[in-house]
Amino acid sequence: MNGREYVLKVLEEVSNRNSGEKEFLDAVKEVLLSLAPVFDKHPEYIEAGLLERIVEPERQIMFRVPWVDDNGNVKVNRGFRVQFNSAIGPYKGGLRFHPTVNASIIKFLGFEQIFKNSLTGLPIGGGKGGSDFDPKGKSNGEVMRFCQSFMAELYRHIGQDTDVPAGDIGVGGREIGYMYGYYKKLRGANDPGVLTGKGLTYGGSLTRTEATGYGLIYFTEEMMKDNNSSLAGKIVVISGSGNVAIYATKKATELGAKVVALSDSNGYIYDENGINLDAVKEIKEVKRGRIKDYLNYVPSAKYVEGCRGIWTIKCDVALPCATQGEIDEASAKILVENGTKVVAEGANMPSSLEAIKVFQGNGVLFGPAKAANAGGVACSALEMSQNSMRLSWTFEEVDNKLKDIMVNIYSQSAKAAKEYGEEGNILMGSNIAGFNKVAEAMMAQGIV
Ligand code: GLU
Repeated sequence: MNGREYVLKVLEEVSNRNSGEKEFLDAVKEVLLSLAPVFDKHPEYIEAGLLERIVEPERQIMFRVPWVDDNGNVKVNRGFRVQFNSAIGPYKGGLRFHPTVNASIIKFLGFEQIFKNSLTGLPIGGGKGGSDFDPKGKSNGEVMRFCQSFMAELYRHIGQDTDVPAGDIGVGGREIGYMYGYYKKLRGANDPGVLTGKGLTYGGSLTRTEATGYGLIYFTEEMMKDNNSSLAGKIVVISGSGNVAIYATKKATELGAKVVALSDSNGYIYDENGINLDAVKEIKEVKRGRIKDYLNYVPSAKYVEGCRGIWTIKCDVALPCATQGEIDEASAKILVENGTKVVAEGANMPSSLEAIKVFQGNGVLFGPAKAANAGGVACSALEMSQNSMRLSWTFEEVDNKLKDIMVNIYSQSAKAAKEYGEEGNILMGSNIAGFNKVAEAMMAQGIV
């Protein structure tokens, strides 16, 4: 059996066994199709059933999360933690609180996380979790009671050497604080290394808040530099307006780019003078409002209902930082027609498989999520190191490490692509480079 036959065989098994889980199947397909040449080079991996094992989570936990709202009504949500792969370190990955969360979404995110975490070069395995709870419109008290109930079950499955959750969509500093407080109460001990993304007063790391957005820009700049270009003077469109989008905007602007648009799930804003980030931070981080409120700060800007329209704006660089599937084939074609030269993913799997084909077929420099947005989890691993050492590095120290990690992720991916005869295909290169380390570790550890 050659590499391609092996990959197709496993893909068929995965789709039969996980039918209906579209997001998970898309993520598996994207990775596995890149790996065929690796199996031609390493037939022993086929014999060891490496792919059959890697597509099956080591453990999946699903649980009831009951809580009481401000009016005394009992609510029940569903909690998840998927512990996907621990070959190179403790499971590591965020928690997502969003009404769309289900087993397929958590499995796709957990699967991606295995290779993303491997690319960082740090000793962290892959996991992910979350709930279909919607923090939007909830009071602080409701969010706290939900987080406590969620942790009342999760605490028995996590630990600083086994599984270390963090934030993702809908889980930021507030939620991590409530969850850490409850974990500490249940365990009766201070184990700051059990969660990352903590506040600075109780074990958090400087730069963690900025890390995914900054990392995305460090990666993008490196990819452009390798292609004789740079962000300076470029028009940039960024979707989303959460943590990733805000700090990507900040760093891109610092490097001389002009960010002209941001969005949320209702619509997008266009500001031809460049986004006023102080306004966005106040709307999103302080008031927890909608991006439409930007017009109260900058009346000359434009607001358009519907978030997908953001990809019709003419730009040199597009950075999808909202959520999965936000760029479909049609949007990708519009971006290409409008002359967009660079697309790098701040969100997880924001471009559909068809959209990626459009980018790659038209010479767009494409930075895939697992490489481009790895800065967040990389900084989480640095937070774990600081917690173990019981000391705190300065902002500059962490930021410099983050920069080195992102530059290294780009060069590893570019090198692997070249080695396998696909120079410039960073998608394929990052899949191969991320996979190789996990594969070697799994081979060394026997059939487990
Ligand atoms: N949720 C982020 C991601 O998708 C960060 C995970 C973490 O810090 O563990 O990579």
